[in-house]
Amino acid sequence: AQEHMKNAEKLSVAGQLAAGIAHEIRNPITSIKGFVQLMKAGFGEKQRYFDIMTSEIERIEMILSELLILAKPQTIKYERKDIRVLLSQVMTLLDSQANLNNVQFTTEFKPGVTHLYCDENQLKQVFINFIKNAIESMPKGGTINIQVKCVNDHEMSIRLVDEGCGIPKEVLSKLGQPFYTTKDNGTGLGFMVSKKIIENHSGHIHVESEVNKGTMIDITLPISP
Ligand code: ADP
Ligand code: MG
Repeated sequence: AQEHMKNAEKLSVAGQLAAGIAHEIRNPITSIKGFVQLMKAGFGEKQRYFDIMTSEIERIEMILSELLILAKPQTIKYERKDIRVLLSQVMTLLDSQANLNNVQFTTEFKPGVTHLYCDENQLKQVFINFIKNAIESMPKGGTINIQVKCVNDHEMSIRLVDEGCGIPKEVLSKLGQPFYTTKDNGTGLGFMVSKKIIENHSGHIHVESEVNKGTMIDITLPISP
């Protein structure tokens, strides 16, 4: 019965996700179809239509690439990695986006355990998602502080602290629901995908936030598999 319950639960989550995907992808497709029909009828400026269609197609691509991460856990590959190296690679990757938005990174690496077993690419995806959210929460710029420390002899904690707009209570309770976003061009998938990856690593995410002050995302991960 226990197993049966689990399957039923899984199905409803899959169903929820499927409904979300169908909805999110139908919107840009409807728009593309509309522009194709306008062009076929000989209306308007083609160049502008092409631009809009391209951005709608890019939106579908973005949604699909985030969803594909969810489909990958079967191919999870655990390797021993230095978290400091992994985080500095992520910071390098996001450097230009941070600069463009007047955002600085500061780091505090506490002495102690530095390596953990993880799927490097998936874990990078998590930090990219959270750091992007942090950058997007600070339209006027600010600092993102990244702290790494040992919790005990088998877990480490990675904290991302921003000085952004913060997350109101009603949003906080919806974090991790597929397609929930407060942004004009957000996908609302980043948090859910990240949570899933951390859970696959047997880790936990804890969020603390204060409106107009900032947000702290605390990720606890086991050091060995
Ligand atoms: P998206 O970034 O596409 O909106 P996410 O799943 O990454 O989707 O985040 C969902 C929502 O959570 C965001 O739209 C935003 O409202 C809120 N959020 C997440 N991280 C932060 C943060 N660091 N500061 C403020 N709000 C955040
Ligand atoms: Mg996001």
